[in-house]
Amino acid sequence: MLVKEMLLEKIFRAYLDYTNEKYGHEHEETKLHVHDIVRCKHKSVMETMFPEFMRSPSAHIFIGEAIDEFVKKIIEIKREDLFPDLESTEIEVSREIRLEDDGEEKVITIIGKPDIVLRDAIVEIKYSRTIEDKPLEHHVMQLKLYLFLTNKKKGYLIYVTPRGMREFVIEEEISDDYVKELLRSWSSPRFEWECDYCHYREICPYRVVSIKEEA
Ligand code: SF4
Repeated sequence: MLVKEMLLEKIFRAYLDYTNEKYGHEHEETKLHVHDIVRCKHKSVMETMFPEFMRSPSAHIFIGEAIDEFVKKIIEIKREDLFPDLESTEIEVSREIRLEDDGEEKVITIIGKPDIVLRDAIVEIKYSRTIEDKPLEHHVMQLKLYLFLTNKKKGYLIYVTPRGMREFVIEEEISDDYVKELLRSWSSPRFEWECDYCHYREICPYRVVSIKEEA
């Protein structure tokens, strides 16, 4: 006999509480979080107005979060044997940058939490439905911002997909100018495809309607 015990609902409640604690923050003009900078600018405004719709019961996002946590966990467990250069899987980092805005100088604090910080590198874990020959642009931006925040010059993007796993390495010193350009080019949306997946698309004035959707 099938008995409905609501365990799945409790797991999902726990997952939502966990991710809200992990990613939740106030959206402030002079304190910008990496995961906001690499996506649509207006989404932060929508999240402030309608926090109820920030997260959806998506199994895909749940799996991504689970993989992220699992990789961090096994790296910690095997720290002594395989990852003696591990610095942290938890740390929040920040750095200030000065911007000219209408002739005035503004100080912006950029804040981020890389998945894995090694002595000489940053590692970001990504879950994707498909395997690609190159990393996604917003993931590269995110990794480069973490390199900037930690003053490191090497970053790994590790993709885990149902079709296989893949690693990309970026070796670069990230300048203030790169970050300033990212902030100057921050738009709503940053990438047109974002609107197709956005929870706010039905009420957003900046929504871009894709050709696929029009048809
Ligand atoms: S619908 Fe598009 S422009 Fe509007 S908040 Fe979402 S991603 Fe940004």
